[in-house]
Amino acid sequence: ESVVNKIAAGEIIISPVNALKEMMENSIDAGATSLDVLVRDGGIKLLQISDNGSGISKEDLPILCERFTTSKLSKFEDLESIATYGFRGEALASISHIARVTITTKTAADRCAWKASYSDGKMLEPPKAVAGKDGTVILVEDLFYNMPSRLQALRSPSEEYGKILDVIGRYSIHSKSIGFSCKKFGDSQFALTVKMDSTDEDRIRTVFGNSVSKNLLDIALDADTELNIMSVKGKVSNPDFNCKRSIPPVFFINNRLVSCNPLARALRQVYSNYLPKGNKPFIHLSIMIDPKSVDVNVHPTKREVRFLHQDQIIEKINSQLNENLSHIDT
Ligand code: ADP
Ligand code: MG
Repeated sequence: ESVVNKIAAGEIIISPVNALKEMMENSIDAGATSLDVLVRDGGIKLLQISDNGSGISKEDLPILCERFTTSKLSKFEDLESIATYGFRGEALASISHIARVTITTKTAADRCAWKASYSDGKMLEPPKAVAGKDGTVILVEDLFYNMPSRLQALRSPSEEYGKILDVIGRYSIHSKSIGFSCKKFGDSQFALTVKMDSTDEDRIRTVFGNSVSKNLLDIALDADTELNIMSVKGKVSNPDFNCKRSIPPVFFINNRLVSCNPLARALRQVYSNYLPKGNKPFIHLSIMIDPKSVDVNVHPTKREVRFLHQDQIIEKINSQLNENLSHIDT
């Protein structure tokens, strides 16, 4: 049984950045406004995320890493959001099958924090009372210690670290009222810091640099009930943008970082009429869509997303972008 669990876990968590993304989403779901990440050896040796969210009550700790333990399936309709948010209650359980997990957490109602360690889905001993602030610290150590094949498939620690910084950067551009930081274990300097009250431009500048954050254009679409979209909002580069570096578009659908190649291709195509040859656009789009429209069959680790009325929605965003860009040109 344990082998089956381990293999299943290795299907869901395939890399440090993948584990981190799940944990960041949990922190955001818990209402955190600050999110601090510590990384050792590309997250393989150690990956720690500290948030100031709701915390987890002591009673919930014993089953926290059991499969399908979730506090997020209260209503029946929520089942439909599985499409957008991935399988429920599988992330922490999976991580605990392939790494050593230690959780320190405190709710506002608790007098002290509680600390518990987990392995293979189980809490190892009763939680210990410790000092701590409101919020949750999740420490993941020795990722894939029991899965040499996964460990071998990873890139070098510095490449894995690069992917971690990239994902934190993308979340920090999108999650506007949240402060982020990331640093390597043992370093005194942060590799990335975004303050809670940073503006959109500040966030983009911090992550992608000065040249990218200059003269950005807003892009926005209203709700369209026929296409099942609630809103589309974003920031994209101005035609005078001069960047040779190719930055994969920052796409969020229902607040989850995704990739959508057809959309990326379409928008780049629009830009090709406006940007001088060789210049690459920066694109950040946040699409809020009826969760029912998002393809259920997309595996949680696959970021590529598909949704209903995809072609029409892409077409709509395209013409909006085209209009904005042509307006600037004249
Ligand atoms: P899911 O997010 O689908 O519910 P997870 O395995 O990712 O499943 O997390 C299990 C549960 O653990 C969550 O539903 C939540 O109740 C709790 N949890 C995990 N991380 C945090 C956190 N940082 N703050 C508060 N609660 C958390
Ligand atoms: Mg989760």
